Amino acid sequence: MYPPSIQKLIDLFSKFPTVGPRTAARFVFYLMKISKEEIEELINSISNLKKTVKICSFCFNPFEGEAELCPICADSSRDRALLCVIEKETDLITLEKTKKYKGLYFILGGTVSTFKKKDVEKLRTKELKERIETHPEIKEIIIATNSTTEGEATALYLERLLKKNLPAGRQVTRLGRGLPVGAELEYADEETLGSALESRK
Ligand SMILES: [Zn+2]
Repeated sequence: MYPPSIQKLIDLFSKFPTVGPRTAARFVFYLMKISKEEIEELINSISNLKKTVKICSFCFNPFEGEAELCPICADSSRDRALLCVIEKETDLITLEKTKKYKGLYFILGGTVSTFKKKDVEKLRTKELKERIETHPEIKEIIIATNSTTEGEATALYLERLLKKNLPAGRQVTRLGRGLPVGAELEYADEETLGSALESRK
């Protein structure tokens, strides 16, 4: 239907999270309208992403710099007894904005709707267990997945996984009440999220 070069871009944009073919087509027609300079800027920004952005070797947070650890993990004022497990990068930003959390993070990289092996394998559970095992200073693991169906299923799975063989003196907690059911963390206001953090159990 579309010329091949347009269709190719539509196919590529359709792979983006939450973007369907119709939105993808709108993106392409938007691109056709903008200037050559804006296109260049976009192309450069995309290609720099893989060149300059690194992934933190502890928490999987993307950052720029020479270090192995992101600025949060490298910050000696953070509370190393707390490890907050979140679904995705944007949840880290959301929690940071509350200014109520001073511990470290771990980005799980997704959610599961079933506990099937092929689904569960998409999560960074192996890495999470490894972090907990090799960092005895971690005393509390806070599961802060979204309160969506997938988020709840993932939290349940993690709770079971982490509570098994959990050494004494360590606990696994969940965000407390107040978060709207079915909502993603990023849509909760900072106040609500802050109190959910404080009332964890
Ligand atoms: Zn980090």
